[in-house]
Amino acid sequence: MAAEPGILAPLDVERIRRDFPILSRQVRGRPLVYLDNGASAQRPRAVIEAERDYYERHHSNVHRGVHTLSQEATGLFEGAREKLRRFINAASTKEIVFVRGTTEAINLVSQAWGRPRLQPGDEIVITWLEHHANIVPWQQVCEQTGARLRVVPIDRRGVVDLDAYRAMLGPRTRMVAVAHVSNALGTVLPVREIVAMARERGIATLVDGAQAVPHQRVDVRDLGCDFYAFSGHKLFGPTGIGVLYGRERVLESMPPWQGGGDMILTVSFERTTYNTLPFRFEAGTPNIAGAIGLGVAVDYVESVGMERIARHEHDLLDYATSRLLTVPGLTIIGTAPEKASLVSFVLDGVHPHDLGTILDAEGVAIRTGHHCAMPVMDFFDVPATARASFAFYNTHAEIDALVRALGIAREMLG
Ligand code: PLP
Repeated sequence: MAAEPGILAPLDVERIRRDFPILSRQVRGRPLVYLDNGASAQRPRAVIEAERDYYERHHSNVHRGVHTLSQEATGLFEGAREKLRRFINAASTKEIVFVRGTTEAINLVSQAWGRPRLQPGDEIVITWLEHHANIVPWQQVCEQTGARLRVVPIDRRGVVDLDAYRAMLGPRTRMVAVAHVSNALGTVLPVREIVAMARERGIATLVDGAQAVPHQRVDVRDLGCDFYAFSGHKLFGPTGIGVLYGRERVLESMPPWQGGGDMILTVSFERTTYNTLPFRFEAGTPNIAGAIGLGVAVDYVESVGMERIARHEHDLLDYATSRLLTVPGLTIIGTAPEKASLVSFVLDGVHPHDLGTILDAEGVAIRTGHHCAMPVMDFFDVPATARASFAFYNTHAEIDALVRALGIAREMLG
């Protein structure tokens, strides 16, 4: 594992920013202030170069060829799998399935784990603050099997009601699927506790880690979950690649999801036998360059240090929260005591979309909309929010630029 830099040494953010070519570009004649990392983060040069190097020197299909390029590509691809295993402390590379992203990972579990075993009346428990990616696949499998979805409520801060959760776990509960961090509110869920309560009752668990892995160290064995899903593009890696972690014993018990090349051992017209883990769940030619790029992204964040990243982002969150609260008419949506580095807000009399457009004219990129979490918007009775989401390359000066741009928006629209 890459050496963790001294825990007390602060991040050299200016040096880090130089590793991200896009951060030095201008938008509408102003320096880019990129505060949409929750939707997709930017890539360091090392990731961009790794993908290019792969295409320029090593590209071939994996697992199939005896020739040199195929072996090199396979070595790089499987090397990336090992990096991802280490990153989340999975027990084996058999537990690391490459997928397109969090959405595909959850669809895989709902169909390959859920569909064959759910019976009418069985229950799947999620929470009110889930991203659509952790709602819709479960709704679909409920429609297919007659199972039903149960939703744990949240309070006005955006905190999940653990008592209600405990009360919801019953003899028909088969799966608990929860976000690690809410993308709409920033709430960090007590997933270790949530998972433990489910496991005590023999219930399977899935954690949607899309918004967690870029911000904090994740140890799937410590969490104890059966499945953990995340996307490369939010973790400073390429788009179109992500990871489904699955406990080996559980993956072994599941039929394949998609059929095709690479997931088989033998095929005849009478009968097909399936490959071992994790290949059984990786039908077809994978995103080889994406996986290699993601491995390099993981090397990069580990060289910066997850603990130092978490500390810097906490500082950004505190600073942004206090600065935003000085803006007249601004209300923060999502005030949980445990939050990751994002702030959702609304501004009196200004529609978030108009706000996003004016901020863009100032070079400030934030996200506006329902953040693929419509039930959260309904709960807070807002059509949409504006969301500033931070990464370790963001600075106090950028938060000042956001607040300045909000002042301009208020004058124009408020
Ligand atoms: N889950 C959460 C909490 C998210 O924030 C996102 C993306 O915003 C997703 C799932 C879906 O991720 P992807 O679109 O990369 O599959």
